[in-house]
Amino acid sequence: MAEIYYCPDCGAPLEECSSCAAVSYFCTKCNSLKSKKRILKHPPENTPSDKRENVDK
Ligand SMILES: [Zn+2]
Repeated sequence: MAEIYYCPDCGAPLEECSSCAAVSYFCTKCNSLKSKKRILKHPPENTPSDKRENVDK
């Protein structure tokens, strides 16, 4: 099961790029590679989102 990491700059999910030995993470939104030390394991909470669940309307 693959883990999903998030861009520390824009919060978008990162794409995992497996090279020979190392694994790097690429943000399609920033169009750049992100260091494994900076990536986020959870999506940032202060990201604006339109996804709202109207369960209690
Ligand atoms: Zn990004």
